[in-house]
Amino acid sequence: MLDDRRKACLAAMGIPLWEQRRPATAEAPELPAPTAETEVEPPPAAPAAEPPPAAEPARSAPTPSDPSALDWDGLEAAVSHCRACSLCETRTQTVFGVGDRQARLMIIGEAPGAEEDRQGEPFVGRAGQLLDNMLAAIGLSREQVYIANILKCRPPSNRDPRAEEVVACSGWLARQIALVEPELILAVGGVAAKNLLDTDQSVGRLRGRVHALGEAQVPLRVTYHPAYLLRRPEEKAKAWEDLQAVWRQLHGGTVQ
Ligand code: SF4
Repeated sequence: MLDDRRKACLAAMGIPLWEQRRPATAEAPELPAPTAETEVEPPPAAPAAEPPPAAEPARSAPTPSDPSALDWDGLEAAVSHCRACSLCETRTQTVFGVGDRQARLMIIGEAPGAEEDRQGEPFVGRAGQLLDNMLAAIGLSREQVYIANILKCRPPSNRDPRAEEVVACSGWLARQIALVEPELILAVGGVAAKNLLDTDQSVGRLRGRVHALGEAQVPLRVTYHPAYLLRRPEEKAKAWEDLQAVWRQLHGGTVQ
């Protein structure tokens, strides 16, 4: 049965207790924390570049041509000095990523918001708190997963990332994925999911199944962004379904 802590997490997510049915499969009873057990692997190839829009000025220092040669320290240092797109001119600081660099589960979101830009950490503030509760509901803390964004710099006024910014930043994320070598990626929100999977399909259509990311065919699931769930709490039950599927997949249960 659900313990008090998990009940509290679900309550914080806004999931009514009558939603906490166990999955139909027999593999997902209690939800213990997973163990980290992965090692470093070579990087996947970055997506092909798109031509920059006329409105954007050219940057003087592009992303290094081969981020795949960088280790964690080199990668973090290179990102902190990156000027490969115009977002470098409005950021307070880059937001690299946090968590266990050998995590089994990697969370990938969209881009830093105002608070992330200020603190230098992804998923803080109310949306971050909800993400923490979502993870806690399946027995994970943010220290046990690795969390990163598609973009490392905040788009002004929290606008959606532009295609050329995603392309410019893609090599950094590709290297992070290669270094973490996660067993599973959870893309949160439509921007992350659509850019990672190169599709225009909605989160509603992409969630509920396992996708394969890149040449390494990393398993990837999709769920709603916590910020969206704060605006649309009626969707939290679907997010809870997605998290249960994540837990089952990490623990060898039946994959939907
Ligand atoms: S968003 Fe990415 S590519 Fe653009 S400046 Fe920041 S780190 Fe570089």
